[in-house]
Amino acid sequence: MKQVKEDVLACKKCPLYQGRKFPVIGQGNHNTKIIFIGEAPGAREDATGVPFCGKSGEFLNELLNHIGLKREDVYITNVVKCRPPQNRDPKESEINCCKQYLERQIEIINPKIICSLGRYSMNFMMDKLGIENKETISKVHGKVFEKEYIFIPLYHPAVAIYDPNMKEILKKDFEIIKKYVD
Ligand code: URA
Ligand code: SF4
Repeated sequence: MKQVKEDVLACKKCPLYQGRKFPVIGQGNHNTKIIFIGEAPGAREDATGVPFCGKSGEFLNELLNHIGLKREDVYITNVVKCRPPQNRDPKESEINCCKQYLERQIEIINPKIICSLGRYSMNFMMDKLGIENKETISKVHGKVFEKEYIFIPLYHPAVAIYDPNMKEILKKDFEIIKKYVD
C-alpha cells in the first residue's frame, strides 16, 4: 500500500494531476473485509487528501453508523484519485488511466465485500466482475452480486444530501450490507 501511495503521489498519467493539491489515495483499515468506492475527490478532499470528508462524507459516516460500522472498520477510496475541475464527471480516459491504482488496492486488501457509491464505481466493478449490465443504477442499487467478491452497488451519498427519500433508500440499502457483515 505504501508503494501505491508513492506511485499516486508521483502520478502524471492523466491531465488531472495539473489541478490537484493532494491526490486522494484512500483511508481506513487495510485488514478490513469491506471496501467502499466513490467517484473522485471534491474540493474538500483535494484540499486535505482525505476521501469523503465533505458533505457527502458526513452522510456516508451516518450511513455507516446506521449499520454499526465506523470509518476505521472499512476502507474508503475512489475510482479517480485527483479532483476533476469544477467537480465535473471524470472522463472515461481518466478512469482508464487511474483504475490501475484501485485494482492494486483491491488486490492488497482482498475484501469480502465491495460497495460502489455512484455509477462510475458501479461500472468499474461490473466490468471487473464481468457482469453484463444494461440497467441504470436506479434499477440495480441494493442488489447483491455474489462473484469473486460480494458486490453491492449503491447510490452515491451526494444524491441524498437534499433529498430525504433518497436518504431512506440509501439507509435501506446499507441494511443489506449489514446482513452480510453479520
Ligand atoms: N465524492 C466522492 O465520490 N469521493 C469523495 O472522496 C468525495 C466525494
Ligand atoms: Fe494519475 Fe489518477 Fe491523478 Fe490521473 S487522476 S494523474 S491517473 S493519480
